Amino acid sequence: MKLSEKFTKGKCVFSLEIFPPKKDMSPDTVYKTIDSLKNLRPAFISVTYGAGGTSGDNITGEVAAYIKGQGVDSAAHLTCVSNTRADIDILLEDFKAKGIENILALRGDINPERPPKHDFEHACDLVRYIKEKGDFHISGACYPECHTEAKSFEADIARLKEKVDAGVTHLMSQLFFDNEAFYRFLDMVHGAGIYVPIEAGIMPVTNKKSIERMVSITGASLPAKFTRIMARYENNPEALRDAGIAYAADQIVDLISSGVDGIHLYTMNNPYVAEKIYAAVEGLL
Ligand code: FAD
Repeated sequence: MKLSEKFTKGKCVFSLEIFPPKKDMSPDTVYKTIDSLKNLRPAFISVTYGAGGTSGDNITGEVAAYIKGQGVDSAAHLTCVSNTRADIDILLEDFKAKGIENILALRGDINPERPPKHDFEHACDLVRYIKEKGDFHISGACYPECHTEAKSFEADIARLKEKVDAGVTHLMSQLFFDNEAFYRFLDMVHGAGIYVPIEAGIMPVTNKKSIERMVSITGASLPAKFTRIMARYENNPEALRDAGIAYAADQIVDLISSGVDGIHLYTMNNPYVAEKIYAAVEGLL
C-alpha cells in the first residue's frame, strides 16, 4: 500500500525506522528485530540506506521486501549523492522487482570518503527522476530545526516546498527533543503552502554516546529537562534507558494531543525500547 493512502485527518500514523545489517553480517538479527517490531502494528517500517549499514548490494531493498512479506508495509530509503543515474536505475528496477512501492528520496550526507557523483545535486533532483521512472510513492525528509547546511531557515523551507512540488507527498522529520521547535516548524511550513502529511521523528535516548553523535550531526537543541536526565544518569545505562523511554513517550503524548499527522520512531533496531514506548502510548493511537 502506498504511504500517502495511510493518512486520514484526525488519526495519527505510527511508523518505525530500522537500519539494515552491516556488511558481511547475517540479516537474521534484523529479521528477528522485524518479527518483534511487527507486533507494534506499525503503519509501515522504513529501512535506511547506507546509514549504519551498507547498501551496495541493495540490502535495503532486501530488508524492505522481507518486511512486506511479513504483512507490514515498508519504505526503502534511497540516497543520490554518491550514485550515478545508472546506479539509481539498477536500484529502482530492483525495488520494482521486489514489489517495493514506497521510497524515501534523500540526497544523503556528503561523505569525504565517497566523493559526490553530481548526477543528482539535491533530493528534489532524485524525486523528479523517480517520478519519471515508475509508479512509486515518494516521501522526503524535513528539518524542524533547519538543515545544517541551509543558508537560512526560510531558504530551507523554500527548498522543501520545491521538493514537495517535485512530487513528494509525505514528509518524515529529523529527530528533535523540543516539541515547541516542531510546532514552530509546522507553522512555517503551512505558511509556505506545504500541506502534505508530516511525521514527527522521535529518537529515544538509549545511550549517551549515540545521542551526542546524533546531536552533533543534526544540530538538535536540547531542552533543560533533557540535559538534566543526561547529566544525572550518564553513568547509569539502565536508568538512562528508562528515562529516555519516558522522555520519548512524553514527547509523543504531547505530539498526538496536538494533532500531529504521524510519529516516526527511530528504533535503532532496539525492539525492547520500541515496545516500551508503544505500550505507553498505544491507547492514543
Ligand atoms: P535535500 O533536500 O537535498 O537538502 C539538503 C540541503 O540542500 C538543505 O540544506 C537544503 O536547504 C538544500 N537544498 C535543497 N534543494 C536545493 C536546491 N535545489 N538548491 C540549493 N539548495 C538546496 N541519510 C542516509 O545516508 N541514509 C538514510 O537512510 C537516511 N535517512 C534519513 C531519514 C530521515 C527521516 C531524515 C530526516 C534524514 C535521513 N538521512 C539519511 C540524512 C539525510 O541524507 C541528510 O540529512 C542529508 O544531509 C540531506 O538529505 P535531504 O534529502 O534532506 O537533502
